[in-house]
Amino acid sequence: MITRIKDLFSSLMLLELLKGMSLTGRYFFRRKVTVQYPEERTPMSPRFRGLHALRRYPNGEERCIACKLCEAVCPAMAITIESDQRDDGTRRTTRYDIDLTKCIFCGFCEESCPVDSIVETRIFDYHGEKRGDLLYTKPMLLAVGDKHEQQIAEDRATDAKYR
Ligand code: SF4
Ligand code: SF4
Repeated sequence: MITRIKDLFSSLMLLELLKGMSLTGRYFFRRKVTVQYPEERTPMSPRFRGLHALRRYPNGEERCIACKLCEAVCPAMAITIESDQRDDGTRRTTRYDIDLTKCIFCGFCEESCPVDSIVETRIFDYHGEKRGDLLYTKPMLLAVGDKHEQQIAEDRATDAKYR
């Protein structure tokens, strides 16, 4: 009975509402932590492991020498490489696919690459609308690398002393 009277009193006095308002009031003047994504972004580590990219040297030549170390080390077996020898005797990939639906973003491919060719970028906001959209082919990976080379190079330089 007493509890019911208390509840009635509480309802009539709008105590719950006042409690809520006081909580809102307390946070109203505090430093804001919400960011307006995607215009605003939170700080990100140069080691962030996002979407993959294949890199080129400044002269435009592909870095990848088709050694297949990344393919061998990938625990998810997400990488498929085919290669061929060029007329000048160098070896390059004719196919380089990463199935991002298998990838677990462990970074082993990046760690294993002797020429800093396959890397993981800071890009995390990409999507596919059907399964095939997340099968990244060599031209797609090179395009990501071409577009974001500056950031990729800066991140590698920042982390160089720890590698
Ligand atoms: S990040 Fe890991 S799982 Fe993904 S492709 Fe590279 S090695 Fe494979
Ligand atoms: S990306 Fe690197 S590790 Fe993978 S095949 Fe090319 S050179 Fe070798």
